[in-house]
Amino acid sequence: MDGAILQKGMYINGEEVYAGDLFAVENPATFEKIGYVADGGTREAQMAVDAAHEAFLVWSKKTAYERAAHLENWFQAISERTEELARMITLEQGKPLIEARGEIAYANSFIKWFAEEAKRVYGETIPASSSSKRILVQKQPVGVVAAITPWNFPAAMITRKVAPALAAGCTVVIKPAPATPLTALLLAECAHEAGIPEGVINVVTTNDAAAVSDVWLEDSRVKKITFTGSTKVGKQLMEKAAKTVKKVSLELGGLAPFIIAEDADINAAVKGVMQSKFRNAGQTCVCANRIYVHENIKEPFIDAFKTALNSLRVGNGFEQSTDIGPLINEAAIEKVKGQIDDAISKGAKAIRGPKADERKGFFIEPVILSGATDDMACMREETFGPVAPVSTFSDDAEAVRRANNTPYGLAAYVFTKSLQKAFYYSENLEYGIVGVNDPLPATAQAPFGGMKESGLGREGSRHGMDEFLEVKYISIQL
Ligand code: NAD
Repeated sequence: MDGAILQKGMYINGEEVYAGDLFAVENPATFEKIGYVADGGTREAQMAVDAAHEAFLVWSKKTAYERAAHLENWFQAISERTEELARMITLEQGKPLIEARGEIAYANSFIKWFAEEAKRVYGETIPASSSSKRILVQKQPVGVVAAITPWNFPAAMITRKVAPALAAGCTVVIKPAPATPLTALLLAECAHEAGIPEGVINVVTTNDAAAVSDVWLEDSRVKKITFTGSTKVGKQLMEKAAKTVKKVSLELGGLAPFIIAEDADINAAVKGVMQSKFRNAGQTCVCANRIYVHENIKEPFIDAFKTALNSLRVGNGFEQSTDIGPLINEAAIEKVKGQIDDAISKGAKAIRGPKADERKGFFIEPVILSGATDDMACMREETFGPVAPVSTFSDDAEAVRRANNTPYGLAAYVFTKSLQKAFYYSENLEYGIVGVNDPLPATAQAPFGGMKESGLGREGSRHGMDEFLEVKYISIQL
């Protein structure tokens, strides 16, 4: 597949659909064109909703067991094509192949988990205050769901939405990021092969996101919008969704604090920060953005961190030695460089890691910024790159106060050996996810999501299923 030029249409109502134009998809590690996909617009967005609406009438009436069986088949089809899907992710997004394989396993775990959970969408009976009344509560699918997804996890951000939606009885229209449409189309191909009925999953690829999403936001048949991406775009979508009072789930940006308490196991903290910070070249919404280390352990921490940094290799994700692939585009490189320059101009000391790959590609070397302060851009704005600013604190209350001093509230981490501190931090940090001695908390059976401007709603777990269900109260007078 590497090097070959693909051409792909959208996936609407079980068929490959082309619009007039095509747009190119590039490999960020080489700038080579990987393929061309259809550039959908208003018409295709409309066609997708028509198909999803039609399919909803049938899909929502299937038993949970039937829907679960379909999801199991999709899971199987993806398992069989794991290597092909992983290579596609590395090709269009750049992450190391080993991480791409991990992403497919993670993405598929949502399909498996929600196939099982489909069977446990229980209602309630509630004692009535009159003996001639009965109160029942039923859960019903919300209807057609529009999913808009980012490029940093081209597979997992789709299945984390689509698996619970389908399990609940909803049908979906998906708009993947323009940088990574091919992975989305391959997932749809797997669903097609697995026999998921036509219209249940539709993928509209486009270079003009708003043209497509505006159609979906205005159409009253679309009952819910589920979005993962930047806080800025999330706010715009929320505003537009108000017009038809759609349900909204938002997984937005983060600015994760990574706190290393005075009693932390320093080696475990370094291992943790390496995993949290440099996975996907730092392009994850939950990655450590600000590192707060207790002042009494700063030196041994920085020494060990520096040694670990030097073990990393920056390069093409297809090469086995690569730990850090390219960033997604030129704008990402400019943003990261800007944050490094800003920090240095305000007094931070840059500890550079191994040199970036000098071949063509959006490569950048990983950097530790020691002596970071909260006024620096890297401590206030999401970085989305391999930059690790380290600041010191003198007591736990100060660390919590500084960690919370941001509009973001997605993930936070604390490393400590003390149970008291573990509870103190996790109960006082204003974050939807707190990893205590755990740099990688995301998993299908746990609720993932943010507080404050990091989002609304949860993905994964039974809470993730609730996002796609209406609660219907039935009162019966006997
Ligand atoms: P983005 O907001 O630019 O794009 C996300 C999606 O929205 C893409 O499909 C894009 O085409 C679409 N989009 C862009 N402008 C739009 C508009 N005006 N109207 C409708 N759709 C529009 O974000 P990105 O750069 O693709 O992704 C990075 C961001 O995503 C980061 O901020 C990151 O933190 C966030 N993210 C959050 C999570 C989470 O679970 N909270 C997970 C991954 C990424």
